[in-house]
Amino acid sequence: MSNSKKHVIVVGAGIVGSSIAYHLSQKGFQVTIIDKNQPASAATGSAFGWITAAVHPDAPDALLRQIAIQDWHRLEQELPALAIHWDGSIKYTTESDHLVGEVTLDQSAVRQLEPNLLCPPTSARFMAIDGSIDAKEATYLLTQHACQYGAVLITETHVSALTQENGKVTGVESSNGPIKADYVVLACGTEIPTIADSINPFLPVLSSPAILLRFNSTEPVVNTLLSGDNFEVRHARNGDLLAAEDYVANKSLAEIAYEAEELIKKGLDHTQSISLQHSSIGYRPVPEDGYPIIGFIDQAQSVYVAVMHPAVTCAASIGRLVCEELTMGIEHDIFTTFRPSRFNA
Ligand SMILES: Cc1cc2nc3c(=O)[nH]c(=O)nc-3n(C[C@H](O)[C@H](O)[C@H](O)COP(=O)(O)OP(=O)(O)OC[C@H]3O[C@@H](n4cnc5c(N)ncnc54)[C@H](O)[C@@H]3O)c2cc1C
Repeated sequence: MSNSKKHVIVVGAGIVGSSIAYHLSQKGFQVTIIDKNQPASAATGSAFGWITAAVHPDAPDALLRQIAIQDWHRLEQELPALAIHWDGSIKYTTESDHLVGEVTLDQSAVRQLEPNLLCPPTSARFMAIDGSIDAKEATYLLTQHACQYGAVLITETHVSALTQENGKVTGVESSNGPIKADYVVLACGTEIPTIADSINPFLPVLSSPAILLRFNSTEPVVNTLLSGDNFEVRHARNGDLLAAEDYVANKSLAEIAYEAEELIKKGLDHTQSISLQHSSIGYRPVPEDGYPIIGFIDQAQSVYVAVMHPAVTCAASIGRLVCEELTMGIEHDIFTTFRPSRFNA
């Protein structure tokens, strides 16, 4: 059987699973996407959507980030409805280093780019090539187009385990019964360790909460994605103002949202009338050692895992590279330090 006739189950329709499913079905693979809820119903649904190439050269995903932007541009050419905002980002948080590609702005340059910033910092870092995307819409678009290429999307179906015959994985056990496949791609974020357990019980994927706030805004307030010490904001496509916030264990979501709104109003002109539309906590899947976990976990090479942080930034590249590994049987050097085998006992 040629590879393209093979059946691949992708477990998880977040941004990672959807991108992998899109690329595989585009190449003619028979793809079934299974999600226990709806697409983008976990971390992806709460993502701030910053696509950033700014990374410390020693960061685990430094090489991946370098190609992330160009892969999103490629994908946007294929799917113009992705409508990525390529407005750049301005960062002036105190704790982080100056990163490769960032240009230093003085106060007057910041003021010029962001005239509504009431106390512009004396110095900030501008990353002109950065973008932002509505990760939920992008996920829907990718699954929709995967389905147009022939993929099947099964929602509200929980995958509990891998099925095996004579020591070889044959598919998955789901709440709708067993489903057979030649390959299983686990892109189900924080639930990867549970499903992979029978093959590799040592995959450490943590669940890291963070908060997304959506305010309605009657006018444009910022021109770029603005990441400061007091708030991180950008506009959504419909003009809403989005803010990403840290999760604070001893505060309620309402308290965090209220405090964030106050800081935004104090820091940005023309925000007096913003009002909170929606708030959510997303649980980000984060590999314990900070490195993405990407690759096969079984001897027979039929179960593939893909999880990383920040995955919205990397999703377009991950979809393409994982698809190339599965369709062409090649091993990308860029994934060498990401292989799940590093956790083998
Ligand atoms: C507030 C916030 C801001 C963020 N900002 C950014 C940002 O600016 N840039 C960036 O790159 N990243 C950002 N992230 C991180 C980003 O959202 C995640 O890295 C990314 O969404 C992970 O995608 P995923 O597809 O791996 O996982 P998920 O989105 O968690 O998707 C996993 C999917 O698998 C399904 N699933 C799980 N278990 C099962 C099962 N047993 N059976 C069937 N289906 C299952 C779930 O329903 C879900 O749909 C942010 C996250 C949050 C919460």
